[in-house]
Amino acid sequence: MRAILHHALGGPVTIGEIEEPIPGPRDVIVRPKAVQIGTDSTRTMVVGSPRVKPEDWIFPHVSGRRAAGIVEAVGSEVTRVAVGDRVITKSPITCGVCEWCQRGQSNMCPHNTLYANDPGSRGALAELTSLPESSVVRLDDGISFVEATLLPDVALMVHTYQRAQVIPGFTTVIYGVGRVGLCAVLAAKAFGASRIVAIDTRQQSLDIATRLGATDTILAGAGDTVASLFELLPEGAEVVLELAGHPSAIGQAFSSASHRGRIMVLSGLKSINLEVPDWFAAVVEREVDIRGIYGLVNDDYLNTMRMVGAGLIDLSAQKIVEYAFDDFQAAFDAAGSPGDTDLHVVVS
Ligand SMILES: [Zn+2]
Repeated sequence: MRAILHHALGGPVTIGEIEEPIPGPRDVIVRPKAVQIGTDSTRTMVVGSPRVKPEDWIFPHVSGRRAAGIVEAVGSEVTRVAVGDRVITKSPITCGVCEWCQRGQSNMCPHNTLYANDPGSRGALAELTSLPESSVVRLDDGISFVEATLLPDVALMVHTYQRAQVIPGFTTVIYGVGRVGLCAVLAAKAFGASRIVAIDTRQQSLDIATRLGATDTILAGAGDTVASLFELLPEGAEVVLELAGHPSAIGQAFSSASHRGRIMVLSGLKSINLEVPDWFAAVVEREVDIRGIYGLVNDDYLNTMRMVGAGLIDLSAQKIVEYAFDDFQAAFDAAGSPGDTDLHVVVS
């Protein structure tokens, strides 16, 4: 069958013949009808991948990770899709059996491989491509094959706003409205944002963002971006998306959130070779929530007393020493003693 073949990283690309894939028992053979170029595995073939040493690639390689097509054949144990179904490809390919996969949080699967992005995994820029059944999603009838190739980015932004726990009327700022950021504008609108502020260094991207539903735009690099944002949203934004992947934008994003705001930082930091500390990359890759804590409210007292009353919290287990009112100096000395930081000193 015919395929578009990469012969080296950053090297020539040709059309050539390769053998047709043979499905394993749980595999699906798809005839691609539309494949997105330039954003993922095709770009990897130009710049390389932080996951793969350059000498480990197997050439010729077939790229094309984001694809939509028709199921051509299925393995003997495939039950979820059938020949003729319209599907989209899903990457990473996950193991399906680890704890994270079983919980439905397969994006945390530690055993994942990247379709079309790992050595030996042939992508969709060919007449046929093979994936595990778990790595194809049936496509809704109303979505064309070409439009379907945008679904991964849009779905990522739906995932993002879902994790930000938004309610209709929320405000959001999006740092970086390239291909992914524009999908964020669509998602923010769908989730009912009342204000969508798009920030980018390119005016043409801001114009598209406005057409897609951004209510305000800021041209970055033309002044104090954060100050401009606070002119538009005096309280700051409830949900901040950092998609620009630029160190200065990350800093600005952290200064843009309102009280109780949520800052969403997306993956891909390492793939663009951005210098970030390891702990920061770990926060992103593990979907860790960092939540600031500042003081407390009445509700916290009421909840705590309820827990004490229910025997869930035992206040008497703490080390408490009592002093009489007139013994205040001893109490002050005990409280100030550097060796007894675990002591609660009470005058009663
Ligand atoms: Zn897994």
